[in-house]
Formats: sequence, structure tokens, C-alpha cells
Amino acid sequence: MLWLRLALPYRLDHVNIYLLEEADGFAVLDAGLGDDATREVWQAVLQGPLAGRRLTRMIVTHFHPDHVGSAGWLCETYGLPLHMPRNEYLLSLVLQYGQADRGAAMFRQFYERHGLAEEIVARVLTNGHEYLHRTTGLPSSYHRLQHGQTLTIGRNEYRVLTGGGHSIEQAMLHDPAAGLFFSADQVIAQISPNISVQPIEPQDNALGAYLAALASLIETVPNTVLVLPGHGLPFRGLHQRALALIEHHAARCAEIAQACTAAPRSAAELIPTVFRRELDAHQTGFAFGEVLAHINHMVVEGTLRRVDDGGPIDRFISA
Ligand SMILES: [Zn+2]
Repeated sequence: MLWLRLALPYRLDHVNIYLLEEADGFAVLDAGLGDDATREVWQAVLQGPLAGRRLTRMIVTHFHPDHVGSAGWLCETYGLPLHMPRNEYLLSLVLQYGQADRGAAMFRQFYERHGLAEEIVARVLTNGHEYLHRTTGLPSSYHRLQHGQTLTIGRNEYRVLTGGGHSIEQAMLHDPAAGLFFSADQVIAQISPNISVQPIEPQDNALGAYLAALASLIETVPNTVLVLPGHGLPFRGLHQRALALIEHHAARCAEIAQACTAAPRSAAELIPTVFRRELDAHQTGFAFGEVLAHINHMVVEGTLRRVDDGGPIDRFISA
């Protein structure tokens, strides 16, 4: 197995790509951003360390641009079949080929109902354009990665797992014999993966899906595996890390419950409760999605309820 680290122009400044060896070359796990810099690195890798070998297939864990970005270009240039979970493939197609601005009015309403300031709304509404700039299309047909299925790559038999929360059906690969677990962005050391509600599905219980997925990982993947994540360094201690993430979100829910005890609060008003450092417009957009994920989950759990005061902004109070 080979491990590539591709640069990203964000605060999280890299993404991990894994090359899994099979008879005549390497299957690629995730593609990196769809920009010129990434394409140049791929070409340099193929002419340098991989000279004389070929890429055999493209496996994409989820639709985020740092993972799927260069996949279309790699598939087309090197004739690779694409393997991807169905929901991830379809969502990426919707975002790449949908009429980008059609939802803007609805999305604006969604953000305004949750009390987000005009300047932040303007910033997050352009996120769709950014997705187009950071991706390179996708092949018109693909191979579906499905939870529970076995994927044979070379001598390794991987069990495919999928989980929601960070994305809608993110794929992970577990090789029980080799003790390897490719966790994508579902479990990462040190970083808590972004769990967000998107305007396309305002009532999405993304946090509930994520917590269920973590509990399922603890049950089905042994703690002894070497975890190979989408960002950061490989690590051991999957169960401790999953439990720490569950604990982290429970603590955030407790903070929100506390803040909503005396008076009802909107999602936007709760951002400083959860994120105490100064945030720019871009980070505020992410923070908002994350706060709303906690609110939606707490409403489902019955620990928070929406106050109907007839006003233009949704506010929530501890139940
Ligand atoms: Zn991601």
C-alpha cells in the first residue's frame, strides 16, 4: 500500500490518498481536489514513483471536493472504473450538473429563518459555485459500493462499511485479516469531523446518523485495527477515538441545552456558545451547519423544542 498526501488550500491543508496494490497496478482510494495543482502532482507521481505501473480503478469514499475532486479527470485520463456509494455518487452529480442557482431563494429563506446575518448568508450561498470549481465531473456509470459487501483488491478482501453524519453514505474499508481500517473522514485523530445540516435537507438529523455510525463501528470493527484516515496521521485506538467523539458531541448538546434554559435561542445565536473563538464568514457558515445538526438532533431526542412565537426567526428552548 502507498500513501500520498495531497495539498489543500484550506486550514486543513492536506488530504490522504491511499494506493492499494493489485496484480497489475494500484487501486486509488480518493482523488484529491479537482484543481491544477492536484493534477500536476498526480502526473508527477505516475511519471516518478509509479513509473511502469498503472492505476486500475478509482474508489471514492464521499462527495466532498477534497475526496471526489480529481476523480472524474483520473477516470477519464487513465480509463478507470469508478466505485462509489450510490448516495455519494448521485449527490455529487446533483451538485455538479444541477442548476446551481435554482435553490438560492429557498436556501436564503432557510438561513434567514435561523437568524444568520445577511453577510454570512451571501457567503454560504456561493458554496455551490465553489464545488463546481473544485471538481472535474464524474463518469456516466459507476460501480456501487454497498454496506456489507466484500471488495477484493489484490490479495486483500475488504468489507465495505458505510455511515452517515459527516456525509450521507460515506464508505469505509475494513480488512479484518490484515487489521486495516480505511476510515475516510468518519473517524480522524484530533479533528472532530464536520457534522452539518445542509439547506437541501433542513430537518436532517445528521448528528443522530453520525452517533449511530460511531456506535456501529465500535461494534463491528475491532479496536486492534490500524486506522488510516482521510486526514491526519494513521493511528490505533479506534474505539477510544469513537467514544471521545461521542463524548464531544454530548458535551456540545449539554452546552446548548444550558444556553437555551433561560430564554429561547436561534441557531445563529448559539454559534458563540459552541465556537468560542473568532470566526470569519466562511467558518461561520460551517459553524452554523454544525450547530443546527446539534439542534435537530436534540429536537428529535426531545431535549429541545422550537418556540412558535409567530416571528420570522426560529428559536429553541430546553424541554
Ligand atoms: Zn469530508
